[in-house]
Amino acid sequence: MVKDKFLDMEFQVFHGAGMPFDFERKELKIKLNAGEALVKIVMATICGSDLHTIEGKRKEDVPCILGHEAVGEIIDIKDRLGFAIGDRVTWSIADTCGKCPCCTEYGLPQKCDQLFKYGHASIHKGSGFNGCYSSIIHIRRGTHLVKVPKALSDSMVAPANCALATMVNAVSQIKIKPNKVVVQGGGLLGIYACGLLKEMGVPLVFCLEINTDRFDVIRRFGAIPVDAGDPQNVKTFVKDGIGPGADVVFEVAGVKELIPQGMDLLRAGGEYVLVGLVHPDSELGITGEQIIRKCIGIKGVHNYAPWHLDEAVAFLERNQWRFPFEELVSPPYKLENLVEAVAEAKKQHWFRVSLNPQL
Ligand SMILES: [Zn+2]
Ligand SMILES: [Zn+2]
Repeated sequence: MVKDKFLDMEFQVFHGAGMPFDFERKELKIKLNAGEALVKIVMATICGSDLHTIEGKRKEDVPCILGHEAVGEIIDIKDRLGFAIGDRVTWSIADTCGKCPCCTEYGLPQKCDQLFKYGHASIHKGSGFNGCYSSIIHIRRGTHLVKVPKALSDSMVAPANCALATMVNAVSQIKIKPNKVVVQGGGLLGIYACGLLKEMGVPLVFCLEINTDRFDVIRRFGAIPVDAGDPQNVKTFVKDGIGPGADVVFEVAGVKELIPQGMDLLRAGGEYVLVGLVHPDSELGITGEQIIRKCIGIKGVHNYAPWHLDEAVAFLERNQWRFPFEELVSPPYKLENLVEAVAEAKKQHWFRVSLNPQL
């Protein structure tokens, strides 16, 4: 453990939508309690939910340090078996108590009574270093740490602890062995869904997406892209491409108008996994009768548990040569250029825009 050492910290403080970020540099000392770690962030990526917060579509406790998708290196750690200074790690976005019913009985630690989420907490909570748009993050005792294999690059791993682990969770919810799956949305969640489903051996994965620039990547993750922006094309797909219907549909676009379409695409007894609609504008526009008469199973998936993050890193290691993970992420911006990075993220040229706070 590092004793009484002052650290040069750089971080971006978010004060609310429409307000400028404060880029701060400070020399600070953080005293660790048992089970805690300080991690030097080597890459953070800008998640869609960060953009929603910056645009004011969702509210966080401010002031805060945003950013939750990242990979880093342990620079200090206290009483944590199996981990040491120098280890490259990722971590669960949720810190949990390990004692409440969600943590122990329900298999849903991400719904813990004492839930704390990195990149979503006020700077007045704990040491304040709770987010990844910072050179250093303070990892709490109830946070799951995962060592990152050397072969995986930072850009492969950075989105694992939000987007990829969430999709590992979503795909693990399927109860039937599917032959045909439809993924509604070809953003990063959708792309990971395609790769995960192909690795599972699903013969036909269709990805509905309006941005045709994404089709090449969708194909390279093993799925068949369908132009969802052309109603005639979707009709033809429903009629000819999907036959009696899909076994499973994933909604990962966060667009409520897609739900009736997804219901149409499902076969009788199919499963609908809802991931994207994590916002209030999410009236489903379907009737109970439709669900009942078609015997549809509906499952909501929010975030993930520690074992899904383990599996996400293992999936990357198994498939590092099969799928072009690195191409999803932009070259890194400097932390001080966060505003430019956010502007680039909004353009959607990349599935993720990255920052390297050590540059
Ligand atoms: Zn996220
Ligand atoms: Zn708990």
